[in-house]
Amino acid sequence: MCLEASPPPSPSVTRRGILAGAAALAGTVAVSGTAAAAAPSTAAARGDGSPAGGDLVIRGGTLLDPATGEVTENAVVVIERGTVRAAGREGAVTVPEGAEVLDAHGHWVLPGLVDAHIHLSTATEARDAVRQGATSARSGSTTFYQDIAVRELARHSPALAPRVTAAGVFVTPDLGDTVLADPDLTPLARLKDGVRSAEALRRVVEVNLARGADVIKTRVNERAGLPEQDPLAQVYSYEQLAEIVAAARRRGKGVLCHSYSERGCHDAVTAGIRSLEHGAFVGERTLVEMRRRGTYFTPTLSAIAGMVDSPNPILAERGRTYLPLLQRAVLAAHELGVPLAAGTDSSGGTVRPIGREVELMRAAGLSELDAIRTATTGAARLLGTERTVGRLARGYAGDAILVAGDPLSDVTLLKHPTRVVRAGVPV
Ligand SMILES: [Zn+2]
Repeated sequence: MCLEASPPPSPSVTRRGILAGAAALAGTVAVSGTAAAAAPSTAAARGDGSPAGGDLVIRGGTLLDPATGEVTENAVVVIERGTVRAAGREGAVTVPEGAEVLDAHGHWVLPGLVDAHIHLSTATEARDAVRQGATSARSGSTTFYQDIAVRELARHSPALAPRVTAAGVFVTPDLGDTVLADPDLTPLARLKDGVRSAEALRRVVEVNLARGADVIKTRVNERAGLPEQDPLAQVYSYEQLAEIVAAARRRGKGVLCHSYSERGCHDAVTAGIRSLEHGAFVGERTLVEMRRRGTYFTPTLSAIAGMVDSPNPILAERGRTYLPLLQRAVLAAHELGVPLAAGTDSSGGTVRPIGREVELMRAAGLSELDAIRTATTGAARLLGTERTVGRLARGYAGDAILVAGDPLSDVTLLKHPTRVVRAGVPV
């Protein structure tokens, strides 16, 4: 069939309607200038169009800067309108009079964590992710652009959702229910062979970007989490992946790619993806290529570890086989200098704590500090937010977690943050 006969994606005409639909599905407020359900003190309520944020002083805790590894005891973090104005030792930082104070004595204070691979399809999932310490997230795609609606929710009501880098809908041969997400995608339902031609691949990428996706999510292999699928079976060739990457790059966007087999990983990396997701069978030649290109590795160890406990024997066996392979790949990648990002691959209503992924990075052989970096400074660089996310320093986002001890001797503390602050708002 000829897709050119269908009109091109229309960025402004249907976007509001599409987002309202996604918001309804996600159970969030519709995206409009008047629907913001924000606290009275926030910028959104002031109506100045800037992202919402609160004023807060976090006082008395031990501050860790993941960028340098520096530890500051009896620290003060001053957050104004959602952004860190100052951070340092008590006495060296001016505390505004009458400011709301969060007492952090007996706790360590870290920047909010980044979940670099999560599927946020509902407001409940978004809220659960924040409560467990993921104050930033990169979406691994949603069926109906719910992640784009969640991103807007986060701007209006930061305590309810992580700041989201949205992937929109999945670029995959069988769009499934996603053909109903968008009038510009429905013509693709007629394709006998699915989304495989260069034209069809470009169409899904372009519609996605027109609807506001920040990144593109695609795949090279089938899924590990479905017993009837073979995660080593390849669904897109090098040429098809290169077409997807080129279409995204024309709009300045990167591609994350679900991958398992070494051949698939190599095709995806050499096609120019920005980050390799899962990658249980990734081999050394591909890791060397990733190092050369600066391609990120998001292993989603917690998702693979989660399969071990599956009641389905095929999935449990996959979990047991893949987890040690993936842990070895993570350590090999780290030793080669491939950048790593923490992601839980949470979906379907169950949100795993991003601290669990940090725990598994540590178990794979990274130091505590390097494991923490995969969910802070490292992941922020992948999201392109390294100037505002991953540290608590002047000019950075007022996103923080408090943990009940020293995470440099026990990273498992990150699984249970005692407090979470999102853009200066206690969650
Ligand atoms: Zn995923």
